[in-house]
Parts: sequence; C-alpha cells; structure tokens
Amino acid sequence: MQVPFLDLERLHRSIREQLDAAYSRVMDSGWFIMGPELEAFEAEFAQYCEVKHCIGVGNGLEALHLLLQAYGVGPGDEVIVPSNTFIATWLAVTQCGATPVPVEPDIDSHNINPALIAAAVTSRTRVIMPVHLYGQPADMDPINEIAARHGLIVIEDAAQAQGARYKGRRVGSLGDAAGTSFYPGKNLGALGDGGAVLTDDDAVANKVRQLRNYGSKIKYRHDIAGYNSRLDEMQAAFLRVKLALLDEWNGRRRDVADRYSKLLAGTDIDLPQVPDYAEPVWHLYVIRSKQRDALKTKLEQQGVSTIIHYPIPPHQQACYVGFRELALPVAQMLANEVLSLPISPAMTVDEVEFAARTIAISLASNEAAH
Ligand SMILES: *Cc1c(COP(=O)(O)O)cnc(C)c1O
Repeated sequence: MQVPFLDLERLHRSIREQLDAAYSRVMDSGWFIMGPELEAFEAEFAQYCEVKHCIGVGNGLEALHLLLQAYGVGPGDEVIVPSNTFIATWLAVTQCGATPVPVEPDIDSHNINPALIAAAVTSRTRVIMPVHLYGQPADMDPINEIAARHGLIVIEDAAQAQGARYKGRRVGSLGDAAGTSFYPGKNLGALGDGGAVLTDDDAVANKVRQLRNYGSKIKYRHDIAGYNSRLDEMQAAFLRVKLALLDEWNGRRRDVADRYSKLLAGTDIDLPQVPDYAEPVWHLYVIRSKQRDALKTKLEQQGVSTIIHYPIPPHQQACYVGFRELALPVAQMLANEVLSLPISPAMTVDEVEFAARTIAISLASNEAAH
C-alpha cells in the first residue's frame, strides 16, 4: 500500500462537478477580478469566522504583511512571533522593515508559550503575532491580556487553522485581526494561491482593501502607494464550494487524528496533545521522536509519506543571518524531532491503520537495533 501525504487529486475528484460548475460560472461571466464571487466569498467566510470583515488577498504572506502595514508597523518596531513557525510569519514582519522577536513554544502544544511573552516586550514592541500551528489554536486569553497591559496589537496567523475554535470561538476572531492562507494544501485551499484578512475593525478593513488594490479607494485615485494583491474570481468561486464542506472535512481530519492517537498510544513517540481550551482542525498530525530521521526513512521505504514541518527554524535560515546567534533550544529541538504523518479528509481507515501499523513496526525494529 502507498499512503500519500495529502492526496489533493482524490479530494478534488469527490467535488469535481461543483468545481467545474464554479469554473464555468466565472468563465461565462467574463469577470475575473474584484467581482461578485469575491464579494460573496468574503461575506460567507466572514460569517463563518464570526468576524465583521473578510478581505480576500493574493496569499497568506501578503495577508499578514498588508495587515502589519495597515497598522503602521515599520522600521524600528518589534513584532513578537513564535520561534517555531513557517517562515512566512517572519517574512511578513521583515517585509515591513520591522524586527521579529522570537518567543519559544510550549513543548506540548507547539504553540507560542504565553508565559514567555512578557519578558520579550520592549518599548519598541507593537504587535504580538501568535500562530495557530498545525491547526491548533494558541492560548489566546493570556496573550490578549499581555497585549492589553502593554497597549499592543494582536494579529493571528490563522493560515493553518481555518475552522478551529478556542473556548468555543472561531480562530480568526480572537485578536484585533487575522491573516489566513488558501494555499492548496491548507484546510481551506484554493486551486492556486489565495489569502484573506479577517477583522472586526472597520478602519483596518478599509485600509487593507485600499492596500490590496494599488492604494486606491476610488478608481484611478491613489492616496497611498499600495500593492496588487487580490483574490481572483476563479479562486473565490472554488473556495465557496470548499467552504460549504469545511466543517465536514475538518471532522474527517479529526477522525484520522483520533484514530492515530488511539493506534499509536503506548509507542515510543510523543503524540499531539490537545489542551482543554482547544478544538483543533488537524491541519497536520505531528509526532515527535528522537529517532525521527531513521523513522522517516523506514516509513518512506514502506510506502508511507511523511513531511517535516519544519526542518530549519526561521532564525537558522540563510536569509536571517542576523538571528543565528539567538539561543532558541526548543525551536531547534522541535526541528530535529517533529514528523508530520499523512492526513487529509480523503484518507481511508485502511490507510490510517496501515500508516500506524508501519510506524509501530518501524519503532519496534529501531528498538531491536539499539
Ligand atoms: C501557509 C502559511 C503562511 C503563508 O501562506 P501563503 O498563502 O503560502 O503565502 C503563513 N503562515 C503560516 C503559519 C502558514 O502555514
């Protein structure tokens, strides 16, 4: 048996007719940018996320970047970010000319450790940017408390957690604003690039709408130097099809995760922990093992595809040489030990059981070899 990491082709086959209809609708309309599909998707996704405004943009990185810019974050400002995240969280900050200040994660949740944030706040701090990593909400209450105490903005990086809930509330509605991504592999994925900004704040929403469209509010009048970063009609139409299925698909991811957790309990690996406050959406199912690299190789040989999210933490990347000397041992340890198992709404019970069995056997043979 071959277990792919994420079988998008299979997933899309199950909704092929609806996607074809969406394509035809846009094609026949002749309207491809800033039209009725985008408007409808923005309204539907705002309602889903329990926020007032959704603004469709080009991708997740630009959602975060435009948001920081809308808040006036720039050179000399500091933004608190997790030390373990996808590079885009940091890139959004450095693209504004601001400085990312990394804070280490809690080892069990893999999310930014709120207890370490206050010590990272300086007179230059403007924003805290927690990431809901792997589909699990960060612990937002203490983060919002610290932000309120110091007059800081909270921007959620919700790229991996569409639909997740924190104490019953949707991710994307938990801070001042959020950026999310519709990269095809995300829980809500387009058939290309896409992203969105979410917020209840009218002024910020208007600013982002202006920034995404050449800095223009009125056609051919440009009051600020903006960007071209818009979610196109075709992607908006595809996303409307998939948004209607998001809860069901997230539920299937949860079934896969629950099955893994049951089948892998008692093995010599650390399994994902879910705090009481969290209803995760299992963008990824990430285990930890000291024998991670050997395990990954064995699984590959047996037909089970895995991925490392992420093998090199941002502060060790060549593009961030200035951060290399920072001591961030938790991020480094996670980079050495994490492994993401195959997960998708299209995965069969047989595939999950095969993957789990293969892991158990590989771990046992590791034991024997030691
Ligand atoms: C995917 C992702 C992004 C960036 O989204 P893109 O649409 O790929 O630009 C940002 N942050 C996190 C945590 C992500 O996983």
